[in-house]
Order: sequence, then structure tokens, then C-alpha cells
Amino acid sequence: MSPMDAVPRPAPPRINPLQRIWLREIGMERLWLRTPPVAPPAMAPATARVVAPEAASAVPPASPVRSPVAPPVSAAEPAAVPTPVSKPAPAAAATPTAEPASGRASAIPASILNRSGPPPRPAPKVEVKEEAPPPIPVAEAVKDADLEQLAAQVVACAACGLCQGRRHAVVGHGAQPTRWLVVGEAPGEQEDRQGQPFVGRSGQLLDAMLAAVGMSRERDVFITNVIKCRPPGNRNPKPEEIAACSPYLMRQIALLKPERILVLGRFAAQTLLGTDATIGSLRGRVHQLKTDEGAQIPVVVSYHPAYLLRSPSEKARAWQDLKLAARDL
Ligand code: URA
Repeated sequence: MSPMDAVPRPAPPRINPLQRIWLREIGMERLWLRTPPVAPPAMAPATARVVAPEAASAVPPASPVRSPVAPPVSAAEPAAVPTPVSKPAPAAAATPTAEPASGRASAIPASILNRSGPPPRPAPKVEVKEEAPPPIPVAEAVKDADLEQLAAQVVACAACGLCQGRRHAVVGHGAQPTRWLVVGEAPGEQEDRQGQPFVGRSGQLLDAMLAAVGMSRERDVFITNVIKCRPPGNRNPKPEEIAACSPYLMRQIALLKPERILVLGRFAAQTLLGTDATIGSLRGRVHQLKTDEGAQIPVVVSYHPAYLLRSPSEKARAWQDLKLAARDL
């Protein structure tokens, strides 16, 4: 008697007749049914209710497998729920290892039973952003605005690219009601900083010119510009900037109803009078501005104070222009 004979040999695995046929067909019957010398601990009994994926590969399937690489089937998984490690086999329910799972196991989807890690988080809410309504054209927006509303619209204006570089939009400043409306070109650096028109050296000269004809910024005159935001580097305003901004000036004229308008410089004169004539040909006479409301306002054109600072000899002509504006027209 050898020492091995003393060890009781484990019984061969129990299989059903179908499994036996299948084993015979693939030539494994004898090899499979041979009693193993030592029962390997990982070998699952053929009647185990739940077969772990690794152990399932050692259990012969109940029906002939066409593909030799067909993935193992876990009996714990309902056939309709695919998992990443095993494909559902339609015949799985017919195998002795595919007993109906317990009520609890069958009530919980396999995708939850088999998952690891924290519980799934609810999908984040996707915010549906409402599209901003198209901007109202400036001319339409200012139509019914009073001076206060107009000022608020200018400050918030984004109708052209100049709003991107501005510190302040310069609405205008002065007497209300006003006798004269003085119109310049566009804010310079100082005006952009302070939000007020003509506050630099040009502004000081303008105040002196007005005082020479008995007019004061605070009492008699409202000062503004054609363009309300500073063009970068004081470049000439572009046609689209003029088109976008002009309705503000037109509304200011309609609301302020000035006795007359003094226009300073070529750019402002050409824009307001709708001409490309030179300033030399426009100054020295009185023009009439017809408003949308049917009024006629006398307009006098003169040199821009910045030009007069560079060309002081032209101040004599500017003085003539001021006397013309101060006359009873
Ligand atoms: N020049 C202008 O035309 N307007 C100002 O406000 C300042 C300088």
C-alpha cells in the first residue's frame, strides 16, 4: 500500500448526460472524468449556483459551443444584461449551473452588482442658455429717450468697436435749457479719462473763445461731440462709427432745441451738414440744419480749438466766426 493509497480519492465531478455527450464529442470525456489526485481549491463544483467568471471557464457549457473562444457565461447574470466581461448566451438557462438566481440577486441589475467604486453620480444638469435678443439699432433705441435715458444709453453703448477701448463714453455737458450747442469731433485722452467734453488744452481755449462773446459753459452752452467714445490714438472716426453714433447727436439736438449750433472742425462740420466741402468753404456763413421734427437751426462752422493751438494765426478768423454766431440770426 503506497502512501497515496491511504488518502481517500475525491469523487469524480458529477455531470449530466448532455454534458457527458458534449465532453465525448470534444474528446475530453476521460480526461474530465478522471479523478483528480488532489482537488484544486479553485475548481468550482458543477452545481454551484453562482459561478465566478474564472471558475466558469472550467465548467463545461450545457450545449455545444461553436466557437472555441466563446467567452464564459456567468450564471448570476441575467441574459439580457451584458457586462464588460461576459456575453449573454441564450442557452445558459438550460444548464444545471444556471438555476434561477435568488430573488435579491435577480432584483438588482447585474450592472450594479458587478460594479465597484463609488455610487454613480446623477448626470449634471445642462443649462440651456437663452440666446440674447439682437441689439436694437441706436436710431430706434433713442427715438423716445429723454436726456437722462439718452445719457444712460450712451454710457452702455456697444454699437461699434470704440466701446472696447473706452474708459468713459462722453455724453456731453452744459446748460439745460441751452442757447448754443457746441459740437466737436470726439473725446481725446483727457476727455476719455474724465468723461467730460473739452477738458484739455483745447477745452481751455474753447472756454476763452466763448467768454469773448459773453457765453459760459455752465449757463448758456451745452458741449458735446459727434462721436461719444475716444478713437484709439485720436485717429479719425470710421464711417461705421459715425453711422452708429450720429443718432445720439441727432436726439440731443431734438431734445435740447438750441437757438444755434457752433460746429468746430472739418470732421464735425462735414458730418453734421452732410457734405465733404472744405472747412474754408463752410466757415464765414450761416447754414440751416433741418431736424426730423421740422425745425430749422442756424449752424455756424469754425476751426477746431486744437487746430487753433497749432495755428494761432487762424484765431482772427475764428473770432469772426464767433461774432457771426453771436449775431441775431
Ligand atoms: N476734441 C474734441 O473734438 N472733442 C473733445 O471733447 C475734446 C477734444
